[in-house]
Amino acid sequence: MRTELNQGLIDFLKASPTPFHACASLAQRLESAGYQRLDEREAWPAQPGGRYYVTRNDSSIIAIQLGRRSPLEGGLRLVGAHTDSPCLRVKPQPELSRQGFWQLGVEVYGGVLLAPWFDRDLSLAGRVTFRRAGRVESQLIDFKQPIAIIPNLAIHLNREANQGWAINAQNELPPILAQVAGDERGDFRALLAEQLQREHEINADVVLDYELCFYDTQGAALIGLNQDFIAGARLDNLLSCHAGLQALLAAGDTENCVLVCTDHEEIGSCSTCGADGPFLEQVLGRLLPDGDAFVRIMQQSLLVSADNAHGVHPNYADRHDANHGPKLNAGPVIKVNSNQRYATSSETAGFFRHLCFDVEVPVQSFVVRSDLGCGSTIGPITASRLGVRTVDIGLPTFAMHSIRELAGSHDLTHLVKVLTAFYSSPALP
Ligand SMILES: [Zn+2]
Repeated sequence: MRTELNQGLIDFLKASPTPFHACASLAQRLESAGYQRLDEREAWPAQPGGRYYVTRNDSSIIAIQLGRRSPLEGGLRLVGAHTDSPCLRVKPQPELSRQGFWQLGVEVYGGVLLAPWFDRDLSLAGRVTFRRAGRVESQLIDFKQPIAIIPNLAIHLNREANQGWAINAQNELPPILAQVAGDERGDFRALLAEQLQREHEINADVVLDYELCFYDTQGAALIGLNQDFIAGARLDNLLSCHAGLQALLAAGDTENCVLVCTDHEEIGSCSTCGADGPFLEQVLGRLLPDGDAFVRIMQQSLLVSADNAHGVHPNYADRHDANHGPKLNAGPVIKVNSNQRYATSSETAGFFRHLCFDVEVPVQSFVVRSDLGCGSTIGPITASRLGVRTVDIGLPTFAMHSIRELAGSHDLTHLVKVLTAFYSSPALP
């Protein structure tokens, strides 16, 4: 099971270089499992029942299994995660020509750990919107090949490099695409039109706009002398999306289950399709009875918000509270913050711990050092919008927001096991 789950994650990460691709990969997997796509612009079945999924902005997705039991009797079991990851995105008019190189101007999306982006073999993927025969259409593209690089400056020309060098995002990040003659400029939209033709045999009249992310072409891999670790980009938070999906597909069909994977968490979740938008509320509102019954269902429901945690790093152990240093491969972490940066309560944490005991999964606790600020995630946002009881959990990782993050190779099995138990659980507190 461990090898299979890890390989599944490696394949999912490869197929999902952007939130758009992650959403498409999840949709494809749900369809193969018999989930039916619902279009938000159309009327939905009046008598809901069965398995559905809905996407918004091609980058957020909600999967719902309406179980054999009424949600009014047992509430919903919700698992939440996010599809986006910090990265570099191409600006609208990106062409730069400097010293005979064709470069692209980039925007920093989210809290990128910038230094690891240098000297990597980069490719580009995302969504392109174009005009064809008078109509506006969108399509996902992925160059797949390493088409760009951001070379470091030699240490001989930057003697301070190892003493803490500030990176100027405007000047130092534009990736190099090619060498060009004189001050010739490449035409980026023409390049995208060529890619649409190559990848999808689409003849676009003109490329109108795009949202494109650079990513590292080196695939995720099991590493370490004993393959104790899994290294790869976007483990935050595609690791949790993958675990949530595997658990949903493994759970029985008795209970009412929801998997919600939303975009824009890394920039605050405030968007049409983010956790701080109306997406989840509107979708649930259309599938569940409304008014008083809706509130009664919500008050019986529980959300497990899954987003990675910070494992205690052997070289930087003092960055953790001495009693709260989650270890890699020692199970999921319950994240607590009494200032509600995490939505965990003693009741929801206790329930999650109880589930872990039941299925013999080790469980850990995290609270940030009292002299450091605490991160946050979709848990408190969703809890505030829906009024749903929530526990924030996640697998311990290193190098969060690097272009290559690290997790324990045994932990995915632990997480899938406890989430499956949650989705199948006959009673919530
Ligand atoms: Zn995250």
